[in-house]
Amino acid sequence: MSKPSNIEAGRGAGASVLEIRNPSDLDEVVGTYACATVAVVEEAFAAARQAQQGWWSFTLEQRSNVLESISQLIFARQADLAKIMSAEGGKTVPDALAEILRAGNIARFFAGEALRLGGEKLGSVRPGVDVEIAREPVGAVGLITPWNFPIAVPLWKIAPALAFGNAIIWKPSEKVPGTSTAIAEIMADAGLPAGVFNMVIGSGPDIGAAVIEHADAISFTGSSATGRKIAVRCAERLIRVQLEMGGKNPLVVLDDAEFQSAVNTAVNGAFFQAGQRCTASSRLIVTEGIHDRFAAALAEQVQGLRVGNAAESTTQIGPVIDQLQFDKVSRYIEIGRQQSGDILAGGGALTLPSRGWYIAPTLFSGTTNDQRINREEVFGPVASIIRVKDYDEALFVANQTEYGLSAGICTTSSKLAKHFQTHVDAGMTMLNLPTAGVDYHVPFGGRKHSSYGPREQGQYAVEFYTTVKTSYLMV
Ligand code: NAD
Repeated sequence: MSKPSNIEAGRGAGASVLEIRNPSDLDEVVGTYACATVAVVEEAFAAARQAQQGWWSFTLEQRSNVLESISQLIFARQADLAKIMSAEGGKTVPDALAEILRAGNIARFFAGEALRLGGEKLGSVRPGVDVEIAREPVGAVGLITPWNFPIAVPLWKIAPALAFGNAIIWKPSEKVPGTSTAIAEIMADAGLPAGVFNMVIGSGPDIGAAVIEHADAISFTGSSATGRKIAVRCAERLIRVQLEMGGKNPLVVLDDAEFQSAVNTAVNGAFFQAGQRCTASSRLIVTEGIHDRFAAALAEQVQGLRVGNAAESTTQIGPVIDQLQFDKVSRYIEIGRQQSGDILAGGGALTLPSRGWYIAPTLFSGTTNDQRINREEVFGPVASIIRVKDYDEALFVANQTEYGLSAGICTTSSKLAKHFQTHVDAGMTMLNLPTAGVDYHVPFGGRKHSSYGPREQGQYAVEFYTTVKTSYLMV
């Protein structure tokens, strides 16, 4: 059985302890967790290197069966996992359950992919020679993940890494150690050989950095600022790196959009999960024929959103995760207030019966694309409307950003929808759908400062988690 290394993490000299409080109720301590030390990271890599070849020599079916067990264990623990995710991350229970199902389905998808790992056989330009091209594991891979999807993002890295025979050192976000510990327990119960899966909890600059120093490859999801630093160090070490980062996703709403559906799409994409999604629709680009009616209807719907304790069934929008996030989002609301026109809904902190990091869903109007709230990732329940003349200007504004993750359009014109799909500079496009919300069996990722390296998820994941060997055989 694989022991998550953090189970022993407290013994290393200098180990620190994390105390996690419920963002919906700051008087509740959800748990305390020991952090790993750099020495523990080094031990985890030693264990991983020893275990990796054994794991690769398992039959395809054995590896597939372990992934199927991981999937089943995730499904079986969904109620308990949802409670932990809601208490430590402020996710509503339905949001948490949807994410858990997604994680279980990802593991099941890669149980199939483990069986399908293929190669190629080609002829040679030399007589009597055959050429075989095989995919082999990369080795001991480092996975570094954020807090906002504490089970889905880890699984979309862990599952392909395991399916294709790698060993793992996983550094989850230090903000979600409860969910991460539950995932480590699932890995231990799924029948992985000791050392194949290792988790090290701790801060990015020390434990995350130590993982980068030892890994054969790094798959990272988090902010673009952190990703850039990681890319530089991985380049110095000449190891492969995959980065999934931030977004400033546009949702274009044209005059001919189906009205209520467009309003619902904007509310969902911009505010659900308190806007803490890399794919959140933070820029709502609206053409002038529909602008005033759309802004008024959207404001009314945003004002009606029920913000509250994430554990309560009536809550639609929970708190943001912690004080750092609360301060950052509050600062951006202040910047928006100074730079832009009107606040149509929200505008700051909310005081509720329980003490928590609550922010009222905030909608700006009369903003321009060059303002900071439209340039920088806020990562909170904040969106702004940008008024444009027509489709051409909408497309231009949509592309005027350093990010390029997801981009949506609400229109009934198939001609303009097709044009947008082809010309918007983003890794994912959505027609009459929120910019957030994706399937688990297809590639996920963006362009520009949103993504770097090979795509994650679906069959494309094989590119990152395997390395190609070309063999020449004289026959
Ligand atoms: P973050 O960049 O602060 O941290 C991400 C992870 O990196 C954490 O585990 C952190 O401890 C670690 N880390 C931080 N500094 C490090 C360093 N110097 N060396 C090694 N590791 C380090 O991001 P966050 O606040 O946890 O997450 C929010 C961000 O993640 C947002 O920008 C969001 O858009 C992005 N995100 C992107 C996707 C995607 O797939 N594109 C998905 C979810 C979240």
